[in-house]
Amino acid sequence: MSETTRRDFFLQSTGALASAAVTQGQTQSANPKKTVGIQIGAVSFADEGVDPVLDNLQSKASVNTLFIAAFTYGRGIAGRQVPGQPLPDHGKQEYDTSTFHGGSYAALHSQYYADTPLKNLRAPDLGSFDVFEQVLPASRKRGMKNIAWFEDVFRPDIPGIQQLQERDLHGRNRSTLCLNNPGYRNFLLALVEDYSRSWDLDGIMWGSERQGAFANALGSHHGGRTGDPGRVTCFCDFCKKKAAGEGIRVERAQSGFLELEKFVRAARSGKRPVDGYYVELWRLMLTYPELLAWENLWHDSLRETYQAIYKKIKSIKPDMGVGWHIWHNNSFSPVYRAEQDLQRIAPYSDFLKIVMYHDCAGERMASYINSVSKTQYEDVPPNELLQFHYRILGYGDEGTYDRIPHTGFSSDYVLRETKRARAGLAGAKTLLLPGIDIDIPTAADHSKSTPKGTEDAVLAAFHGGPDGVILSRKYSEMKLTNLAGAGTAIRQLRLS
Ligand SMILES: [Zn+2]
Repeated sequence: MSETTRRDFFLQSTGALASAAVTQGQTQSANPKKTVGIQIGAVSFADEGVDPVLDNLQSKASVNTLFIAAFTYGRGIAGRQVPGQPLPDHGKQEYDTSTFHGGSYAALHSQYYADTPLKNLRAPDLGSFDVFEQVLPASRKRGMKNIAWFEDVFRPDIPGIQQLQERDLHGRNRSTLCLNNPGYRNFLLALVEDYSRSWDLDGIMWGSERQGAFANALGSHHGGRTGDPGRVTCFCDFCKKKAAGEGIRVERAQSGFLELEKFVRAARSGKRPVDGYYVELWRLMLTYPELLAWENLWHDSLRETYQAIYKKIKSIKPDMGVGWHIWHNNSFSPVYRAEQDLQRIAPYSDFLKIVMYHDCAGERMASYINSVSKTQYEDVPPNELLQFHYRILGYGDEGTYDRIPHTGFSSDYVLRETKRARAGLAGAKTLLLPGIDIDIPTAADHSKSTPKGTEDAVLAAFHGGPDGVILSRKYSEMKLTNLAGAGTAIRQLRLS
């Protein structure tokens, strides 16, 4: 692909115009440059062969952009199907329980890693199979674009990793890495420099599905019910020093989080404060404003990391697109949504993948409600709390607390979220790419992706005026029949 084509693709800022054509039904003039992306791990190419996979992606869903999970220690984007879930209608018919390790699925070059203790993180899973070497020439020949996609998920047994790990409220190591630790920051910059210089990529996308200590202590995310409020992060020396430098009283922050830990433990055991849970939390926030300052410090550090990665890549190849995966918690927690200030991150975001996974949203929203209804909102019955969240997050009625795990969210949620994000990015050149879920695992009796549901979600996304979509979270767990549902929508929109 020529440099010009790549620049056209990633620096186009005509999303609003192009989407207006779709919205008004002028599909005959639909913009062929809309991104139809898919997240895919190296294991799929290794298992099924590069060309057969690309054939499937193009014939079933008119995919024109690969988001290749190149570096992670997480099975969520790099493994095969999750054990316990039905195997899809393609790929190796087995789980990778004992063989999954993670790391970089493309060759790494040691000269870039001088300033970090993390070295030689090549994934051993697939032997000498190099996903960039194998896939990039083949996909480029077909006119497809290639984005390296990676996330900040690590395993605890990597040599040298302990010194980069976050420290919790009580000083214990966690498995997550600290964004303020120069050894980790330098690793991220080394990896993107290595990928940018070593391969002919069209872009890089990074994602961090994490938040600060205040939100985590309150279990303010799906799956948060079992979180330990004493294990919140980060209280390492780098973070303390940074906080002190910004005028945050570190001792007061620690005292506040110890009180918050007590509050959460008492709430979960049903010990109601005299003035109720919600009032008591406000009293804590007023007494210890450092609680919010510490939360914000974590997100400032994330934004600084975005900026540093962006600057590094642009200093090497200005035409490469640089963007971020925004966690699904953005759809559930108003606190997390407040922390995703799109205008603020737009100047260093060529594109944003904002997760709008409609099918698993029901299960996940219920899980979030279940968690926060045992901390600050314990005086509110879960279904009333859910209805409150629909109002403040701008959703229609997606159903009751008991029902939504079984029904998922509707395509109307995808439409509303796309419109909201588009409006949030007003005036910015950042491309908006909603993340659409296909067969993301849910519990056995919960809602599952269907061809029609997928088709409706993709149509709804495009009616909200984005610059494309990213089918998520990985090809290896998607049924081809459901992937074809996305294809039906793409063809209806004449985007293929
Ligand atoms: Zn730290």
